[in-house]
Amino acid sequence: MKKVAPEKQLLESIAAQIPTPFHLYDGPALEKRAQDLNAAFSWNEGFREYFAVKATPNPHILELLKAQGCGVDCASLCELKMARAVGFRREEIMFSSNQTPAGEFELARELGAIINLDDISHINFLQEHGGIPKVICLRYNPGGDAVVANQVMGRPEEAKFGMTRDQIFESVRRLQAMGTEEFGLHAFLVSNTRAPDYYPAMAAMLMELALEIHRELGAKVFMVNLSGGIGIPYRPEEEPVDIAKVGERVREAYDSLIRGTSLHPMRVVTELGRYMTGPIGWLVARAIHTKDIYKQYIGLDATACNLMRPAMYGAYHHITVPGKENAPCDRVYDVVGSLCENNDKFAVDRKLPEILPGDLVVIHDTGAHGHSMGYNYNGKLRSAEVLLTDEGYRLIRRAETPEDYFATLDYPGLNGGTGQLQGEPPAGWGAGRP
Ligand SMILES: *Cc1c(COP(=O)(O)O)cnc(C)c1O
Repeated sequence: MKKVAPEKQLLESIAAQIPTPFHLYDGPALEKRAQDLNAAFSWNEGFREYFAVKATPNPHILELLKAQGCGVDCASLCELKMARAVGFRREEIMFSSNQTPAGEFELARELGAIINLDDISHINFLQEHGGIPKVICLRYNPGGDAVVANQVMGRPEEAKFGMTRDQIFESVRRLQAMGTEEFGLHAFLVSNTRAPDYYPAMAAMLMELALEIHRELGAKVFMVNLSGGIGIPYRPEEEPVDIAKVGERVREAYDSLIRGTSLHPMRVVTELGRYMTGPIGWLVARAIHTKDIYKQYIGLDATACNLMRPAMYGAYHHITVPGKENAPCDRVYDVVGSLCENNDKFAVDRKLPEILPGDLVVIHDTGAHGHSMGYNYNGKLRSAEVLLTDEGYRLIRRAETPEDYFATLDYPGLNGGTGQLQGEPPAGWGAGRP
């Protein structure tokens, strides 16, 4: 599928107000994705997408998704605080955390979030820090290989998440004794998969487990949580996932396994991140240098600090040059940032049209795990975030300034110099220590 970005004229008019680099998100396109997902699972009355906040942690994005009926999946103190500020409460919040600090369980319980328990050892820890809820979700790790449509897609056995099958049963027993009445089951086996069989296969696995738990322990399993993992086509030659078909196939699993049993009606929920926001975001940068040595380089004003995926995973992100969409791709470039790290490359040996200093360069599919994975290496500052709306565009996070970067120091000429660091440790810090 041809990758399109907003037109040069619009991007230049934004860049005149908000200097590059910036992350740009298409609000109406995100609403449409939420609506299509909701439609695909509308057969399930309890369906809800709990957007994985870590993909795009901006309250304006969360607000937009809330208006489409989505909840949030949080994994940390700040994500919970952001969810609270946007007005998410109780069963609108899933808390899927691991190695969880005490203060995070406490805040999650205070908000009435559904806790997705990662480990059996967390039962006693949760009892001490927040208390055991009436409703809880348990994270299952089936071990072995994740096989979807006869293909090995992942190795759950090597993953740090979730509990073994025996631990799931033992956890249900213990929690029942402590007063928990309803259980959800969660698993996350494969990341960024476009295999249409992934969700249906996992749904069937969790539904079968739910039936067994119900049969053996008499527990009410009210929900299966299919988590995230549905992928997007990062390359133009790849096909997007047909979400309507995926919803239909999960319905078939539901109809054959759950409908007609005493577990019906059961909620089916998702925690998609990448699928929701990945394709509706772009990193907009400008070429500031060209360099011709053993290879030809295009130097951008963005770095891996703005988009870590290529440097970290060698991930492919498509690149286009606004205004040169129809120019022949007759050059081969490495498109790079300015970090003192040789992996700071957005693309290697990429066929592109001729790029000159001053050209805008758009990196595609950066809406999820883009700005959110940003960091400050080399003293680089994190960029602004801009939301396209029906009316135009809106700045939803300003760019960092040097003052922001120095704010946590206390040093003459940078930030103070009184010799006394000001400020309280953040809430949750050190909580739970003896
Ligand atoms: C990261 C994560 C997600 C979202 O994953 P995507 O691949 O972005 O869809 C959902 N649930 C949990 C528990 C996660 O850790």
